[in-house]
Amino acid sequence: MVGAVSGCSHCDVLIAGGGPAGLAAAIALRQRGADVLVADALRPPIDKPCGEGLLPGSRDALERLGVDLDARDGVEFTGILFADGEASVCADFPRGAGLGMRRTVLHQLLLDRAAQLGVRTAWNTAVLLKANQPASVGGATCAYSWLIGADGHASRVRSWAGLNAGRLRGLRLGFRAHFHVAPWSSRVEIHWGPLGQAYITPVGPQEVCVAAITRQSGVRLGTFLESLPYLHAKLAGAATTDAERGALTLTRRLRSVTRGNVALIGDASGSADAITGEGLSMAFRQALLLADSLAAGGLDLYAARHAGILALPQRMASLMLLLDRYAWLRTRVLPVLAARPELFREMLAVHVGEQPMPRFLLRHGAQLGALLVAPGLA
Ligand SMILES: Cc1cc2nc3c(=O)[nH]c(=O)nc-3n(C[C@H](O)[C@H](O)[C@H](O)COP(=O)(O)OP(=O)(O)OC[C@H]3O[C@@H](n4cnc5c(N)ncnc54)[C@H](O)[C@@H]3O)c2cc1C
Repeated sequence: MVGAVSGCSHCDVLIAGGGPAGLAAAIALRQRGADVLVADALRPPIDKPCGEGLLPGSRDALERLGVDLDARDGVEFTGILFADGEASVCADFPRGAGLGMRRTVLHQLLLDRAAQLGVRTAWNTAVLLKANQPASVGGATCAYSWLIGADGHASRVRSWAGLNAGRLRGLRLGFRAHFHVAPWSSRVEIHWGPLGQAYITPVGPQEVCVAAITRQSGVRLGTFLESLPYLHAKLAGAATTDAERGALTLTRRLRSVTRGNVALIGDASGSADAITGEGLSMAFRQALLLADSLAAGGLDLYAARHAGILALPQRMASLMLLLDRYAWLRTRVLPVLAARPELFREMLAVHVGEQPMPRFLLRHGAQLGALLVAPGLA
């Protein structure tokens, strides 16, 4: 249904926002039999500035949603590389592979799955929120039992429901563009430089997605790449396949993500800096949790466990933002990891949830600390 809201006078669950979080929630809820209406102000397939890397955990969650991805939907990557011009280190995921794929391709696959399950949709149709009134769909009344705010970082559902209280840290600006060039690595490369980080995700046989994140205002992708000679050389002569787009990224922790019959999901419900590459994975896992919770009769389970999904990505974001803020720390850490790649491998295992952080710290914390104080020992 495009832009039409007639016949939408009632649903069990109204979802404001049909991005990855909203569609994943719709799919998970339909899988449990709920009557779901998703409304989005834009028309599909919806594009958005994103690094376009799905970590192995995202793929696991998508599989549970019945969204089967295969290598033909994008390009598989086996791990992560960190480089800063002086040193580099890489490692593969302990299990599975990531998938780089265009955001529009991902959106279309989610749409197909939602349609297959009978999710009702209203595109080009905003959910309107007025104080002390129920949400309406494009101005038309729609009775709902539950309202889910999947409306992104600047969520209006969040403000309307009085759920804005919380902490917001590390506001940065992200850009992305696609370049027509054959991927040169089987890993996502994260290049650290004076302006921030640029990461390269293979998304097609002849295409890479370049995302850059910075704290500095006034910087654009071109300036950013000029500050990273290795990348600048790799992309020299490669045409961009679309226009550069920008978006904010930040780490947000809310005091609560539910109130009454309203719940938030995806970026609306909190986030970890984009450098973690965990935004989509968190949204998909939240969708599954939300559906379990409503199937159990309410939002209590979701309210209780939501923070647990954000906790590790937010901790990893804090660590990475320390490296971003303090160049002296970064210039110590990267050579140490380059000399001890097994440490980086285990850190990656922590990042993707395959190893608990306390175990890593217990096993390697003291050694890492000593190496940072006296890097010559590495
Ligand atoms: C530069 C950058 C790089 C990133 N890289 C990665 C990465 O590599 N891997 C990863 O997993 N994550 C990455 N992320 C994070 C990821 O993009 C987000 O976490 C993800 O888009 C969140 O999805 P969402 O559905 O919550 O929000 P969104 O994608 O923002 O969708 C929200 C939707 O709500 C709609 N909407 C808003 N208001 C209304 C309204 N009133 N009525 C109806 N519709 C409304 C909007 O039109 C939009 O479609 C990156 C983010 C940035 C900025």
